[in-house]
Amino acid sequence: MRVFVASLATETNTFSPVPTDLESFKESFYAPPGEHPATPTLCSATHIICRERIPELGWTLIEGTATWAEPGGLINRQTYELLRDEILDQIRAALPLDGIVLGLHGAMVAQGYDDCEGDFLTKIREIVGPKVIISAELDPHSHLTPLRVKQANVLIAFKEFPHTDFVDRAREVVEITIASIRGEVTPIISVFDCRMIEILPTSREPMRTFVDKIQTIEQQENVLSISVIHGFMAGDVPEMGTKLMVITDNDQPLGDELAKSLGMELFSFRGNTRPPYLTPDQGLTLALRVPERPVIVADIWDNPGGGVAGDSTIILKKLLLLKQQNVAIGTIWDPIAVKFCIAAGEGSHIQLRFGGKSCATAGGPVDALIKVKKVVRKAVQSFGESVVPLGDAVCIELAGIDIILNSNRSQAFSPDLFSNLGINPLEKQLLVVKSTNHFYGAFSKISENIIYIDCGAPYPSDPITNNYKKLIRPIWPIVADPHGLEHQTAAAKDTVIGDTNHE
Ligand SMILES: [Zn+2]
Repeated sequence: MRVFVASLATETNTFSPVPTDLESFKESFYAPPGEHPATPTLCSATHIICRERIPELGWTLIEGTATWAEPGGLINRQTYELLRDEILDQIRAALPLDGIVLGLHGAMVAQGYDDCEGDFLTKIREIVGPKVIISAELDPHSHLTPLRVKQANVLIAFKEFPHTDFVDRAREVVEITIASIRGEVTPIISVFDCRMIEILPTSREPMRTFVDKIQTIEQQENVLSISVIHGFMAGDVPEMGTKLMVITDNDQPLGDELAKSLGMELFSFRGNTRPPYLTPDQGLTLALRVPERPVIVADIWDNPGGGVAGDSTIILKKLLLLKQQNVAIGTIWDPIAVKFCIAAGEGSHIQLRFGGKSCATAGGPVDALIKVKKVVRKAVQSFGESVVPLGDAVCIELAGIDIILNSNRSQAFSPDLFSNLGINPLEKQLLVVKSTNHFYGAFSKISENIIYIDCGAPYPSDPITNNYKKLIRPIWPIVADPHGLEHQTAAAKDTVIGDTNHE
């Protein structure tokens, strides 16, 4: 048997001012065939698991390209087509094949392509024909289009948010692919459109119990996999929203029923899944009252992981007004300021303009005399088992506040973000991180005190005011009752609610 593995992934915030091009992929992660490192990345764990499993079966593994761009704005058309065609050529050269395993993200949007993954899967299917098993691992912050469901045999999303389980889910993708190639199972995908968009962290209730419950249901006979597609509200595409996906072993009625019942249970959680979000004034006042250190302050909507620039200065400017010292901020993206600091050298004092330049809602730049405390070329931080590049980075000090400036956009994943730049995170009163939820896994290990601040920008965080042009399905909270529940009698509810997608 012959199996091909590749990865093409990013998350596109169609509202972001940061265009995504080939350089964006190459500076984040680009591994040509055979050159994927031994550690997985978020969207290429399937590479590592295929290396473990396929050769030991006596089968042949053919590796294609694996690449990922930090979430950003619309991908330029030539870049998407170039990367797509590179992998399609590799597939043609690898024929005949029995299986194709892909690391996708699922929220990729390019100029002229609202559904890049649907396009990619369709072109792969055209090359390999109907019998080859095509499987993909997805991020739950993705768009599940009928076209993808039609072209793929196996689609599995990470269950956890923070995404601590991407290696476990990759293992499931590969095992179900192997069983499908052997003819031991026949995967059938059922999808229910929950008609909502919501932030669904699984580190808290009610999602914690829900994820545990679906993992119990996965043990039932004929149930191969259950995924919650959370959706990605910063992607203005027709299929944006939360969906419940069940894969059965050739049991469409069971899959449809489970998808619908679990999907409506998920819909019932709307409005009650997020941690409390505070304004900058409320959040900082509360944070400064906590006697223990460090307190983690998350700037949730300046999260480069959601495609924005990550250069907002709103919280920094509040801290400067409060004359608050013993604070560290990780990070503010500003490659030009990093260059200036590196040129000036460690220990130098320079007048610097930094941050706040990417868009009108990023808080505006800071102009100040700063000290360059530390310079690190090709700095990194960890995220679970993966290593995340920050590019060249510096730690600068301004009025008692340590600020990390980086040149590759990245959200804060782990306290080693700070220690790698010479800051002891345990000694700081406040650690300000740019991240919505992924920071939680590693930072909650060093502090119980976590405060979420909603600056209202620059991420498009309110679906009601986001002014979607391509999303035309009725979804909550834009529409209060998208399933028409209020107009149904209790007896009729079970028979007409929702859509179950059979494609
Ligand atoms: Zn995600």
